Amino acid sequence: MNNTSLLQRSLTHVWHPCTQMKRHETSPLVPIAKAEGVWLYDFEGRRYLDGISSWWVNLFGHGHPHIKAALVAQLDQLDHVMLAGFTHEPVVQLSEKLGQLTGLGHAFYASDGASATEIALKMSAHYWRNTGRPEKCRFVGLAGGYHGETVGALAVTDIALFREAYAPLVRLAATVPSPDARAAQPGESAADVAHRAASALEAWLELHHSGTAALIVEPLVQCATGMAMHDACYLQHVRALCDRYEVHLVVDEIATGFGRTGTMFAHQQAGIRPDFICLSKGLTGGTLPLSAVLTTDTVYQAFYDDDVARGFLHSHSYTGNPLACRAALATLELFEKNDVLARNVMLTQTISQAFAPLTSHARIKNARQLGMIWAWDANTTSPSFSRRYQQQAMTHGVLLRPIGNTIYAMPPYVMDEGAATHLAQGALAALEATLAEDNTHA
Ligand SMILES: *Cc1c(COP(=O)(O)O)cnc(C)c1O
Repeated sequence: MNNTSLLQRSLTHVWHPCTQMKRHETSPLVPIAKAEGVWLYDFEGRRYLDGISSWWVNLFGHGHPHIKAALVAQLDQLDHVMLAGFTHEPVVQLSEKLGQLTGLGHAFYASDGASATEIALKMSAHYWRNTGRPEKCRFVGLAGGYHGETVGALAVTDIALFREAYAPLVRLAATVPSPDARAAQPGESAADVAHRAASALEAWLELHHSGTAALIVEPLVQCATGMAMHDACYLQHVRALCDRYEVHLVVDEIATGFGRTGTMFAHQQAGIRPDFICLSKGLTGGTLPLSAVLTTDTVYQAFYDDDVARGFLHSHSYTGNPLACRAALATLELFEKNDVLARNVMLTQTISQAFAPLTSHARIKNARQLGMIWAWDANTTSPSFSRRYQQQAMTHGVLLRPIGNTIYAMPPYVMDEGAATHLAQGALAALEATLAEDNTHA
């Protein structure tokens, strides 16, 4: 395979996501030939440690033999069948399993995170319509929240760059303050910030609850805005307020689910039960696109009727795809077989130790960590910091892609000490190289 021609063909024929294509005139795409474990390999045999799990999806490294074997066996049996009017073993098993894990049920499937958001919002509003309160059809989310980029999901995604151009298409949701612990005033704790944010939500709900269907939150970590972390007590406040004001609580665990924050699901650290949970990303261990929304019996029963129009009207061609469901089941088996959550506690210490020089670096502030997420804010005003840092990281053999000034790592759960050292040294070297360039790239 000729590498240069692959690059050129990609630029000619492929529109890459989240990318100003013209940038690739100066910073080339990286063609990847293969991947194994925590490593991505290019055509020259150079390797890059996948420090962000390929956009947070890969939990157990690339090409995991257990997931691979399950997929091959499933492919021999049943590749796909439509899920309307039909059912199959992988979708039933997975739904049972997700029910056990979340304490919710009635799993509804799609193929990506944004669609899971759409489903949760539609289900919530339709629930209120079916129960005689059609005026409850607006949504509220947190400042800096991210729930996907389709037109419906953009309504609750508060990231200006992603939303600005499409604002006229979007039926904007309301935004309440984020409980981001970095907002703490001197002497304030993360719990104080959470309490303040909850008071703002309370004041908002007091005025607007009668027209509001649901609040959507990313529990414990607002990832896409730059790994903004908050105290778990915020979720307890929010649960109580949603109960009091009769507003659904949607937890978007698309990024935080499947052990990323230390528990299977982030909201479990607050001991609360949401009305809806959105899952995707790690669900298939990073092999196939799949998402799911689970809800309560109460919500489900409000749709259960002789009238078709009272049913939940939503479908995707690949809903409940057997291969994707099988990959998810194999991924969930790995959690049990390998006692992953307990082992990650140890792994987290190893990785944190490796990152210590970065954490204590003079140009770093707000170093923070939760489960298998690490984040640091670089003290720089350069608007090109993120792009240049990413390039520097690649030259040091690591894939890291800062969000603005926030450097973060979300590695797969199969790191060993050598990989942790490589990742941490690459992250530090990339910081120093990028800061050294800062003067020439004001
Ligand atoms: C990534 C993400 C989404 C969107 O998922 P896609 O599969 O990219 O559409 C939604 N919510 C959260 C919290 C995410 O991190």
